Amino acid sequence: MAAKDNHLFFVENLFAWHEANPRPLPWKGERNPYLIWLSEIILQQTRVEQGLPYFERFKAAYPSVTHLADAPEDEVMKLWEGLGYYSRARNLHATAKHIAYNLNGSFPSTYEGIRSLKGVGDYTAAAIASFAYDLPHAVVDGNVYRVLSRYFGIETPIDTTEGKRVFARLAQALIEIADLPIADCGIADCGLEIADLPLTPKGEPKQGSAEQNLIAGFGLQIADLHDAPNPKSEIRNPQYNQAIMDFGATHCTPAAPKCPSCPMRERCVAFLDKKTGLLPIKSKKLERRQRFFNYLIFNRLNEVFIKKRSEKDIWQNLYDFPLIETDSLQDDHRFLTKNKTCQAWLGESDWSLRRVSPPQRQELTHQRIVATFWELEVGKDFLPKEETWMAMEREKISNFAFPKVIDLYINQKFLPLELF
Ligand code: SF4
Repeated sequence: MAAKDNHLFFVENLFAWHEANPRPLPWKGERNPYLIWLSEIILQQTRVEQGLPYFERFKAAYPSVTHLADAPEDEVMKLWEGLGYYSRARNLHATAKHIAYNLNGSFPSTYEGIRSLKGVGDYTAAAIASFAYDLPHAVVDGNVYRVLSRYFGIETPIDTTEGKRVFARLAQALIEIADLPIADCGIADCGLEIADLPLTPKGEPKQGSAEQNLIAGFGLQIADLHDAPNPKSEIRNPQYNQAIMDFGATHCTPAAPKCPSCPMRERCVAFLDKKTGLLPIKSKKLERRQRFFNYLIFNRLNEVFIKKRSEKDIWQNLYDFPLIETDSLQDDHRFLTKNKTCQAWLGESDWSLRRVSPPQRQELTHQRIVATFWELEVGKDFLPKEETWMAMEREKISNFAFPKVIDLYINQKFLPLELF
């Protein structure tokens, strides 16, 4: 089977699957680049179900890029709270300011312009370029790697430079086929390559081409091309990008692909060779660094101390409690008297331990955080030990954005917390 023929089979069956399996979502069919960008940033590393209410909230609070640009940073971070990967929120805000104040509120309309925005990578730039402006740039993410590696049987590891190149080229070739005004009109039989066809993706004669002669030379009629499944020469790259994203997310899923009902199964290499569980291939295993955080919650009358995380580390610009990081889990009360920072902070003050939490875990992409919360009672003369500490009334705590592990701790119902 000719390679191009196989590509066409894939593209047309993907379209057929998409038509039969619509997945209505609020950003589908959206043409406003600001809202597309917002949805794409929210959905990075996030499940659709989790991201959906955040998209609705952001859209309602900031209906335009200028509204977002003008919002206070703490407000944006608070609205983002619980979604994780907080650098996305910081970049979102910085980019909104850049567009509103440096680009007069006009969203860039070329792939290169979109790609140059802070926080926008190849995938997001391709999605915005295609969905907002019909530009044929293929999205390539985990879903696309999985679908293409399985269908075409590609064993090049996806986390290598070579793998990225192979998949990007294949994805781009497929999206360009999606926009061609032909699909399966017998071109393979004529020995004709798609690139040879004298039509532009919009179905117009290529400049300077002797369209009639070329087609006649292969024994084809123009009508043959226009009788194909894309007879109106529609621009289909946005639908193609949407289709492959939906297909990967709901049909060709990581653990349980629905192969028996897949329209591609008769030509899918992974299905035919029983390799769906092996593809895609990754060369490295993800290693997570384990970090142990000890949060000291100083209760001074009706106040506690919180601080903004300004250092270059995880959770930048979120809030937390005074923190002591240790090399191992501290589950012995002697930590409070033996650790040097604890000694410096507690000094000669009157204090008592109210309770210590069991270790609370939060998994990040490259780190596992194990947090222990030490709740202390201190006297009314207890003063902040670092400039960054802010005394905060307990009932105002919820106005600040905290990392998930702290937020969960604060809101845990099973711990009889007097504090919150
Ligand atoms: S046959 Fe199975 S593995 Fe192949 S594309 Fe379809 S769902 Fe994916």
